[in-house]
Amino acid sequence: MIRKKKLNGILCLLAFSLLAFTLAAAPAGAAQNGLRIYFIDVEGGQSTLFVTPTGQSLLIDTGWPGNAGRDADRIVKAAKDAGLSRIDYVLLTHYHDDHAGGVPQLVERFPVGAFIDHGPNSEVRPGGPTEKVWEAYQQVLATGKYRHIVAHPGESLPVAGMHATVISSDGAVIDHALPGGGEKNTYCSAEENRPVDRSENPHSLGVLITFGKLRILDLGDLTWDKELAMMCPINRIGHADILVVSHHGLLPSSTHALVYGVHPRVAIMDNGATKGGAPQIIDLVRQSPGLEALWQLHYSDRGGSEHNTDAKYIVNLDEPDEGNYLQLRAHANGSFEIVNPRNKANVTYAAKH
Ligand SMILES: [Zn+2]
Repeated sequence: MIRKKKLNGILCLLAFSLLAFTLAAAPAGAAQNGLRIYFIDVEGGQSTLFVTPTGQSLLIDTGWPGNAGRDADRIVKAAKDAGLSRIDYVLLTHYHDDHAGGVPQLVERFPVGAFIDHGPNSEVRPGGPTEKVWEAYQQVLATGKYRHIVAHPGESLPVAGMHATVISSDGAVIDHALPGGGEKNTYCSAEENRPVDRSENPHSLGVLITFGKLRILDLGDLTWDKELAMMCPINRIGHADILVVSHHGLLPSSTHALVYGVHPRVAIMDNGATKGGAPQIIDLVRQSPGLEALWQLHYSDRGGSEHNTDAKYIVNLDEPDEGNYLQLRAHANGSFEIVNPRNKANVTYAAKH
């Protein structure tokens, strides 16, 4: 009898501890909300907004400068649609104008908490577009209103509600296998050699974002040589459920070693109508083993009917462009949904066991 009472007591304590742990681990509303990701259309640049269940936000890149603040306006619209009153972190992958050009116009329109980057501009050509973008960004930082973080490979970003690991930064890549990585990559080939890019692209700040069982890889415009450095002969990253296709689908990026090596279920390409979306890369990604769908922010004019994904998966088809964003909602069990606002397509990707 006494033994039974003791056992009951222990069981009660265990149940209570489990409940307390569950409450602590899952903030209110987390199960309902998941991780929301907005792939904002900046016409062949990048701007991707992550909103975690805890309400924190990370914007990767700010699109182009000019155009009367077109890209900043589109970012603000997505942020307001997401219910944000501030973007906590803005990560700049690199200082090309299609990624960091929109910084001054964004901070004029919407509160930002902190900037994350790879350190000084490597493409120093006075008067050139990259130098101008870099100088404008330095003026924003010099106001002293924003926290500034320089990120290095292997570090974690301080965004609550998801985990973001830095994979590449300022020309360096992770020097060890991440959890889930470390296997020999069967897609490495000596034929991947392409001309070396000496611009800001290989300096891109790339991240692997994990949310529960889901893994999302975004490497900015990182180039083929850096891909091979971290994917061959050992795949240091492992798999990614969702691959943000590097460099808008342009030829200096997306080797078989990377794309096939991370084995994505879904690839998302932030190409414009006339920027990115190279037919060879669209074909390479679509043939990736295990790929369930390639989504494109735009129909690629160069691709024609042969070298574009199915129209259902294209977010902006024709001019005049409406600037639709693609929305993804991810769940900790690994399942996710993607919504195309143009045609109201809503595709569910079930959790894999
Ligand atoms: Zn770019």
